[in-house]
Amino acid sequence: MHEMSICESILDLIKEQARAQDFSGVRRISLEIGPLAGVEIEALKFGFDVVMRNSLAEGAALDIIETEVRATCLDCGTEASIEERFDPCPNCGSHNLKVTSGDELRIKELEVN
Ligand SMILES: [Zn+2]
Repeated sequence: MHEMSICESILDLIKEQARAQDFSGVRRISLEIGPLAGVEIEALKFGFDVVMRNSLAEGAALDIIETEVRATCLDCGTEASIEERFDPCPNCGSHNLKVTSGDELRIKELEVN
């Protein structure tokens, strides 16, 4: 499962941070996930508990912040949030949009002990 390996890379990042900042436990992790990141949130939550078991982040709460898809229209210059990658420009109806965000997957905040 793809979400499992995402959780493993999150754990790696946490371990790196723990070494750099000298903390030994994590209480809460806030993750920012865009709709285009291709992550299934339910699967991620499940994988999270499994992967964090017996690590310094065991029992940590997982907050998921879902971001929106933002795009710039290359025809009229409108910047808008859209539902999906191939949605038309809400201003002029053009499909000539450049998606500028919505595929992020990053740790926004770590609450540590
Ligand atoms: Zn437009």
